[in-house]
Amino acid sequence: MVRDIPDFPKPGILFKDITPLLADPRTFTMILDAFTEEYVGRHLDAIVGIESRGFIFGGALAARLNCSFVPVRKPGKLPYHVDRVQYSLEYGEGALEMHKDSIRPEARVLIVDDLLATGGTAGGAAELVRKQGGIVLAYAFVIELAFLSGRERLLPTPVHSLVTY
Ligand code: AMP
Repeated sequence: MVRDIPDFPKPGILFKDITPLLADPRTFTMILDAFTEEYVGRHLDAIVGIESRGFIFGGALAARLNCSFVPVRKPGKLPYHVDRVQYSLEYGEGALEMHKDSIRPEARVLIVDDLLATGGTAGGAAELVRKQGGIVLAYAFVIELAFLSGRERLLPTPVHSLVTY
């Protein structure tokens, strides 16, 4: 259900394509069930989903867990006032934005994305949540590329992934 695409989007990267998994309702439901089981009863106030594949899982999960869904996006996409963070990528720098009024102080937040690689992106999203006074309870990923040690970068916050390479 996870298709390997060599040299996408640039040479040397083995891209994990999740579209076959999304096309299969049984698998998509299994993923949402696994996350729901983990986080039901944890009193989440918000799920922060990271552009763009984090929206797919994060949005569906927020509806199931009856909490807010908050999008974190690449610069220039969100229409209202934003907070912004810069973070380091494997090569170079990235930036993420979140609407200023997204997270209320002390809110209990889960950060969701499709895949954990180096952890730079998820760590950037956490910085935005903390900037607004929220508490990052955990990170949830469908896929973890363990050889890139993203989990260590996100410590001590717990990381939950369903498939590890
Ligand atoms: P990182 O910040 O290094 O943890 O990268 C994670 C972000 O980049 C996620 O939003 C992923 O969707 C995307 N990403 C990184 N590496 C891959 C890969 N090999 N296949 C698919 N997506 C990836």
